[in-house]
Amino acid sequence: MLRVQHQPFSMTAVTPRAQLRAVPYPQGFAKLAGVTYIIAPPAPPSLPIIGSEQRFPIRRVFCIGRNYAEHAREMGASVDKGTPMFFCKPADAVVGDGADVPYPSATSDLHHEVEMVVALGSGGRDVDPEQALSLVWGYGVGLDLTRRDLQAQAKAKGHPWDVAKAFDHSAPVSALRPAAAAGIDADTVLRLSVNGELRQQASLGEMVHGVPQIIAALSRLFELKAGDLVFTGTPAGVAALQRGDRCHAELVGVAELAARIV
Ligand code: MN
Repeated sequence: MLRVQHQPFSMTAVTPRAQLRAVPYPQGFAKLAGVTYIIAPPAPPSLPIIGSEQRFPIRRVFCIGRNYAEHAREMGASVDKGTPMFFCKPADAVVGDGADVPYPSATSDLHHEVEMVVALGSGGRDVDPEQALSLVWGYGVGLDLTRRDLQAQAKAKGHPWDVAKAFDHSAPVSALRPAAAAGIDADTVLRLSVNGELRQQASLGEMVHGVPQIIAALSRLFELKAGDLVFTGTPAGVAALQRGDRCHAELVGVAELAARIV
């Protein structure tokens, strides 16, 4: 529970560095767990857990690109089996099951990418692929929503992908199922319907880099931590979404996600 106290401004309550920024905000400051903040800190993003009242706190969101060969081909790209390609979304881009997702600004080509989402319950650096699944806490299904027009511009100019991938509400994710109860294997089916019409479908065995390889590769670039989410790539069939569209994503037998574009 986030408790915000508004108190009279006090220079003694803030660090010297914070004083410089604190001066223009005489209306008060926020206290949380004994720490004084100059503005109210945001509540940590989290996801519900299937079969539990507890929630999974989200630390960071990593995504792999081009992890299904047919999708790489439809994007005019080639698959690099040696070096996975990663990008990130902010943790507060995650929205839960049943959310209304606002059609984002600055695009006229919003695309769906259905993906399995892996939730890490522990972390590490330089993790061996043989040990990597021991980091996995659970699984869900998500949409890596993409401003495809801005992504194409970024690719053409050699610019970063952030504005194409990391916008507000760009990561709808289902409730998570604990790994022990998920029964994930190469035959597990990932699929997306839009307005009742099947748009994307693949089995997890079609992934170029499997979950152990993805975790191992990420852990050589970042120290992974509990709470990190990993989007594991999308199969072929990505296409545009319009306002009013209803998405239904499934990791069959594991998790389901509904989202409406508004
Ligand atoms: Mn993706």
